Amino acid sequence: MKMFDPHIHMTSRTTDDYQAMSNAGITVVVEPAFWMGQPRTHVGTFEDYFLSLLGWERFRAGQFGIRHFCTLGLNPKETNNPDIADGVIALLERYLDKDGVVAVGEVGFDDETPAEAHYFARQIELAIEHDLPVLVHTPHRNKKAGTIRTLALIRESGIAQERVLIDHNTEETLPLVLDSGCWAGHSIYPHTKMDEARMVALVKQYGSERIIMNSAADWGVSDPLKVPKTAAAMRDAGIAEHEIETIVWHNPLAFFAQSARLDIAEAEAPLLIDQRHNWEGNSVLRGQVPQVTTTE
Ligand SMILES: [Zn+2]
Repeated sequence: MKMFDPHIHMTSRTTDDYQAMSNAGITVVVEPAFWMGQPRTHVGTFEDYFLSLLGWERFRAGQFGIRHFCTLGLNPKETNNPDIADGVIALLERYLDKDGVVAVGEVGFDDETPAEAHYFARQIELAIEHDLPVLVHTPHRNKKAGTIRTLALIRESGIAQERVLIDHNTEETLPLVLDSGCWAGHSIYPHTKMDEARMVALVKQYGSERIIMNSAADWGVSDPLKVPKTAAAMRDAGIAEHEIETIVWHNPLAFFAQSARLDIAEAEAPLLIDQRHNWEGNSVLRGQVPQVTTTE
């Protein structure tokens, strides 16, 4: 079964991860722009980050047969830095038009400050202007209240709910998100928040409509194989194959295809690997024999 991890920060992962993901059946990823683990001090570093998501990282994924798309946005934490926030919004005006950008994100609330509310709303406006869907991060603290506020802000913004993916859901927030008409993402972590067994229970209760799951793997303790591992747990629990496939493949494709930059037929076809290629003169190889796949 082909799988799609629609929220993974590959910039902070290794080529071993790409290889393992590819072996496990992951053929498409979406990498949301997020923070670095420490605050950035210049607007220009966002520009280089956006360029690397659109360039080198996309190339690197392709070298392992994985199609890479990204979402661009000013992450919630860094909306609180008045020295950079407006500068990043100005950058987004240009970068949201680039090929490979399939949504605005991740945006939303972290500490629920006034700056976060302002730039959340502003970035939804950008999404409407650029005809893109939106990927929304929900806060890890006060999650239920933060999600209620998130859904209210989305309703006021005027964006169509089916163009919004609310991420990092739990048992508490999922019914609210499904009622709203937005799509519901779930991040499966090794030790905290949502895990495989809880995800299986949610699917048994709510089914697969507008349900999406991801690894949210980044530079912290996380696992880039959580989508295939959770799919296996669903199978072991007796969830039907077509339902699993809806969650790990058809749903994320349908959501991000709304950007008109992810072609479903193209994504269904295998991406041929040709490690003889370079990106701006650079390769992922260190003297190895390049892998090349051909259509038999
Ligand atoms: Zn993330």
